[in-house]
Amino acid sequence: MTTTRTAIVTGAASERGIGMAVADRYAADGWAIVILDLDGERAAHVAAEIGARHGVAHFGTTANVADEASVETARAAVAAEVEAGRLPVVGTLANIAGITSPVPFLETDLALWNTVMAVNATGTYLVTKAFLPPMLEAGFGRIVNMSSVSAQRGGGVFGKVPYSAAKAAILGFTKALAREIADSGVTVNSVTPGAVDTNIRVGTTPELEARIAADIPIGRVASTDEIASVFAFLSSDGASYLQGTNIDINGGSHMH
Ligand code: NAD
Repeated sequence: MTTTRTAIVTGAASERGIGMAVADRYAADGWAIVILDLDGERAAHVAAEIGARHGVAHFGTTANVADEASVETARAAVAAEVEAGRLPVVGTLANIAGITSPVPFLETDLALWNTVMAVNATGTYLVTKAFLPPMLEAGFGRIVNMSSVSAQRGGGVFGKVPYSAAKAAILGFTKALAREIADSGVTVNSVTPGAVDTNIRVGTTPELEARIAADIPIGRVASTDEIASVFAFLSSDGASYLQGTNIDINGGSHMH
């Protein structure tokens, strides 16, 4: 398979995570892949594994998406790979890095609020700002931002107020940027999954997981591959007329 463009995926280094499944699906679809995550060594390792499995160019490095200097270092490293011809031009960015928090509102403090906002919302802002220019220059790009059903229905899965607020910020960010660059050839869309089978719900219990699944009309949480299918579609050539939209994938737990 010839790879003509690179897909950048943030938050794709964690075992059983959505990011890893998305990166794997992008590579299966023929994208060269870049993985940006907190642990650069692991990001490089996962990228190499996925790259080898699908025969595509790959690169992984450290990025704390909430830190402007760290994102700039990662941007420069990716740009150097492209300039050296080791990666094709960047064509997709999947902003997936995120953290959640189940802390009840009055027990939160500003530090927790700031951290959850920083990784989810500010991270999406910083990484998009870093990688949008080459897409605009090429006249082609697909930006897919990870929100959550928690943004739409006020939590109700695991994450509470700071998480729901941060994921709602991503919906507004997506629409406003999509409108601003609507005719550039770059699309900006978001995805709102319900509960997915990953390790993000730190401290969850089998009882809580059973309650979460019982609340979903389909009767189970989503697999990471099911979420990856939506990212793959929004990044495909065929999704060229989706601009500033959001795709729900929640097993029927929120219909609107
Ligand atoms: P996960 O914990 O497995 O993966 C999160 C990834 O983000 C990890 O690789 C982690 O290292 C990375 N990350 C965290 N902070 C970072 C930072 N500051 N900089 C760079 N990378 C960072 O969780 P997941 O379930 O795969 O979640 C992925 C995304 O999907 C998150 O944005 C999450 O909010 C969202 N989401 C998850 C679910 C779910 O039920 N699992 C539902 C809706 C939305």
